[in-house]
Amino acid sequence: MRRSRRKPERPLVGVGAGVLRLLGGRPCLDFCNTIDPREGPRAVDHLTGYADVLQCARRTGLLSSRDAAALHTYAKREASAAQRSFRSAIRLRGALHRIFTSVVREQAAPREDLAFLGSMLARAAASAGLIQNGRGFVWSWIDRAESLERPLWLIARSAGDLLTSGELARVEMCAAPYCGWIFLDQSKNRSRRWCSMEGCGSRQKMRRLYARRRAGRGRSV
Ligand SMILES: [Zn+2]
Repeated sequence: MRRSRRKPERPLVGVGAGVLRLLGGRPCLDFCNTIDPREGPRAVDHLTGYADVLQCARRTGLLSSRDAAALHTYAKREASAAQRSFRSAIRLRGALHRIFTSVVREQAAPREDLAFLGSMLARAAASAGLIQNGRGFVWSWIDRAESLERPLWLIARSAGDLLTSGELARVEMCAAPYCGWIFLDQSKNRSRRWCSMEGCGSRQKMRRLYARRRAGRGRSV
C-alpha cells in the first residue's frame, strides 16, 4: 500500500535562518525580518536557537563561514553562554524592530530599546582589539564566552551605522497588513511599497482586484 505524504497545513514553525529571504537591504533590517510575517497567527519565527543567529549573521555577510563555524563549535562547548546570547539576540531583534518602526512612523524611539542597543555597542567596543596582520591590522575579538555575542555586536553595529547615516530617511515598512517587514528603499524615486513585489505586492494587487470585482457585481445587481 502506498503511503501518502500529507503536506503540513501551516508553515513549519522554527525552520531556521537558512531559509531567510533577505529583502531588508541592510543586515540589521534582515535580522528584524526573521519573523515572517511579523504579526498574525501564521507568523513563523526563523530564530529558534543560537545556531540560527549565526546562520543569519553569515547569510547577511556579517560573519564569514569560517568564523560562523568556529563560533558554532564554541557554542556547543559553552551551551549556557550560547543560550544567554540567544536570549539577548531575541531582545535585540525586538528593540531594533521597535526603533526602526518608530523611525518609519516619525515617532520617538523607545528609550529602553535605545539603551539596550547602546549597551550592546559598548560591549562590542570593549571586547574588540587590534591584531597585526602582515603589514596591516584587523579587528579581533577576545576569545572567551562573551565572544558568543559577536554576531549580536555586528548586528548592533549595522543598526548603529544605519541610524546615524543619511540613508535613515529611506527606511520603510512593507505596506501589506500584518507583514511588518522593514527595508531600505533604494529605488530612484523612493516608490517601493512592499518587502517583495512577488510576495506581498502581488497578494495586495490580487486583493484589490477581487475587491473591485465584488464592488462591480454589487452595483450591477
Ligand atoms: Zn511584506
